[in-house]
Amino acid sequence: MIFKDITKTNFKGIDISSHHEFDHEKVFYYEDNKIGIKSLVAIHDSSKGPAIGGCRFKEYNSFEEGLNDVLRLSRGMTHKNNVAQIPFGGGKGIIFKETNKSNHLLKSYANFLNLLEGQYISAEDVGISLEDIRFIKKYTEFVFDNIDPGPYTAKGIYYVIREAIDFCFSESLTDKKISIQGAGSVGKKLAEHLANDGAKIFISDIDKSKLENIDNPNIRCIDDAFSFECDVFSPCALGAVFDKSSIKSLNCKIIAGGANNQLQDSSIADDLHHRGIIYIPDILINSGGAIGLTKDLMKKNADETESDLMNIAYRVRECLTESQEKSISPQDTLKELII
Ligand code: NAD
Repeated sequence: MIFKDITKTNFKGIDISSHHEFDHEKVFYYEDNKIGIKSLVAIHDSSKGPAIGGCRFKEYNSFEEGLNDVLRLSRGMTHKNNVAQIPFGGGKGIIFKETNKSNHLLKSYANFLNLLEGQYISAEDVGISLEDIRFIKKYTEFVFDNIDPGPYTAKGIYYVIREAIDFCFSESLTDKKISIQGAGSVGKKLAEHLANDGAKIFISDIDKSKLENIDNPNIRCIDDAFSFECDVFSPCALGAVFDKSSIKSLNCKIIAGGANNQLQDSSIADDLHHRGIIYIPDILINSGGAIGLTKDLMKKNADETESDLMNIAYRVRECLTESQEKSISPQDTLKELII
């Protein structure tokens, strides 16, 4: 078994602290050959409290691709917590998907968390379910096992889309066309909220089984949500969906979705702004999950939590107003909070 603080090392041929995504406190590597687990945890900033963030179980083409992901995602968590005024730091875990997920693998990840002694508290992310986290909880205290953050994230995005439509068109959601990419924990719940409020929802998923059992007259399943003509496009699958080439096929007026790190790089925010598409920054819109996860630790009751979720939409309105007044992209209005 290997457990190593790789922050100031040259690891697998990479000088970690010189990496272009690195501005972190710590990066840890864990490996157990007997189990077949290789994992990274990045702690971006713990000045406001222990680092929190989900664990992702995903195939990566190389160690560097995984490192890139964990560094970007953990920084995003710090920014998200800052923007949502959540007094926790930003962190992220990834497990390189090289074998099938098994109880042995999850137990071994729990061992990694124990070795970190609470510097990082893990929730689920893509490839890791709440059920997995509940299993991991048998072996470590350093997980959030009481809450599925997806519905909280979805509720926050729902409030934001409602607010953004009011801001842009001075209209309600009724008959607005909203296209959602990804019918997972966030996308499906978001579709329900919006459809129940009268919006016309068009949803896609590469896993067709996720589209089964959708029974709402306002929700239609489609093959490609990305280029679908709509008022709002909501990316709720994986990140980095917007790059110089892909944004040419967008057919929407507003982008408001839950996926993390949606822009391949920050210059895309300006490209979207110049194309007249309002891009609501992911760190601003998808903080509902972090609000849900930390509500018990923060001793918030249901009403206070709901009002925290609604506050995301008020912050979005402030951001859109400033963006309009200064003729800058919404992303640029957050510069002071995310540096
Ligand atoms: P999930 O794994 O439950 O759902 C993602 C869905 O997207 C899956 O059904 C998958 O099949 C689908 N998908 C993947 N690629 C696709 C593509 N190209 N086109 C269409 N569908 C595709 O994940 P989730 O919890 O719903 O999270 C969705 C996104 O939101 C992720 O990027 C996640 O990091 C981010 N996020 C989630 C939360 C949360 O609370 N769950 C919080 C913040 C951010």
